[in-house]
Amino acid sequence: TQTNQQWQVRREAAVTPGVGSSLQVYLQKALNAELWDVEGKRYIDFASGIAVVNTGHNHPKVIQAVTAQLACFSHPCFQVTPYGGYVELAEKLNALVPIAAPTQTLLMSTGAEAVENAIKVARIATGRSAVIAFRGGFHGRTLLGMALTGKVQPYKKGYGPFPGGIFHAPYPADYLGISESQSLASLQGIFAADVSPDDVAAIIIEPVQGEGGFYAAPASFLRQLRALCDEHGIVLIADEIQSGFCRTGKTFAIEHSGVEPDLVTMAKSLAGGFPLSAVVGRKSLMAKAQAGGLGGTYAGSPVGIAAALAVISLIDEEQLNVKAQQQGEWLSTFLHHLAEEFDCIGDIRGRGAMVAMELVESRDRARPDKALTQALVQEAGRQGLVLLSCGVRANVIRFLIPLTASKEIVTEGLNLLSSSLRLV
Ligand code: PLP
Repeated sequence: TQTNQQWQVRREAAVTPGVGSSLQVYLQKALNAELWDVEGKRYIDFASGIAVVNTGHNHPKVIQAVTAQLACFSHPCFQVTPYGGYVELAEKLNALVPIAAPTQTLLMSTGAEAVENAIKVARIATGRSAVIAFRGGFHGRTLLGMALTGKVQPYKKGYGPFPGGIFHAPYPADYLGISESQSLASLQGIFAADVSPDDVAAIIIEPVQGEGGFYAAPASFLRQLRALCDEHGIVLIADEIQSGFCRTGKTFAIEHSGVEPDLVTMAKSLAGGFPLSAVVGRKSLMAKAQAGGLGGTYAGSPVGIAAALAVISLIDEEQLNVKAQQQGEWLSTFLHHLAEEFDCIGDIRGRGAMVAMELVESRDRARPDKALTQALVQEAGRQGLVLLSCGVRANVIRFLIPLTASKEIVTEGLNLLSSSLRLV
């Protein structure tokens, strides 16, 4: 057996530093909201592998479904010899998205691929190419994903040039000092100066920005985007890769606004720990793609599909949306108390169990404290709590706790958070 330190030394020689890790501990075992490293140390997981295990690590039902699938086959490739699980999951996802029937589904493997393919569908369906995305947004690390991504560091710098025809509007967020009307005015400015709305294939938006810092778009803004898309025949894509699958207390975050997108991208918690992603949307758009234009060798892996079918049955069985609301309340109550004690805690915000807190300089609370955020993640790690940061100014701690975590475990983790804050 190897220690964390031994793995770290081997990793530094063998693995590109381009893949960062917040902690230098190496995992041995994971169950629901608890992790154990190779030295037997236990951690409470407030990151869920970046929003992947809303149903908890190794949910027995997910593991059972995957094991049963492995006993049959693991990879025939849907493009060679199709299998029913793909069709069954498509039927379930078509009914799950907040889009009026008829809808159709494409399965891929990663979030970035779902985004790429949503843009491909929008392009083939509209015959247009330009895309509008939002500043502070994150859509993946492929070249198009990075082109759409608003945040420059560390994702984009030095990796260009990126595909053209992408325009960024400011995301409306009070905390950023950008109102809804300013954001809409900027969008109109882009239409006036840079690209005609009649050349725009799609507008892609995270209903709650994830990597950007957990900002929720106001419902009225999403409604106005919808109206703009209807007026100009633009495809509205909701990127629900981080916010989807009950994280915000609704199966998809855009449901809070009552707005129907045309396409939804999803990944992460869709398959409870297995790589699977999807584009689900209006049949009038999805059906425009020609055979062979979409897909991939591993796209829609039967193993991921088995996991996703189990996850979908858990939405009701585990009451995931109710649990997200409850967890969100525990979190915000605790964090607001904590903020009375620690004046480095700035804004606390979020939706459902997608909650974040900003860390600011105690002496000048308008200034983000990135160094403190990094120190807190490290100290929490030493205390046995896995925290995750994010934000355009890298000063946000985001809480992505398995929705299946008990109140005792969440409270234990929050107590570790407060003892870590005392030490940094
Ligand atoms: N879109 C959003 C909103 C995301 O949060 C992410 C990942 O964090 C992606 C796309 C990219 O997903 P993946 O890392 O699976 O390619």
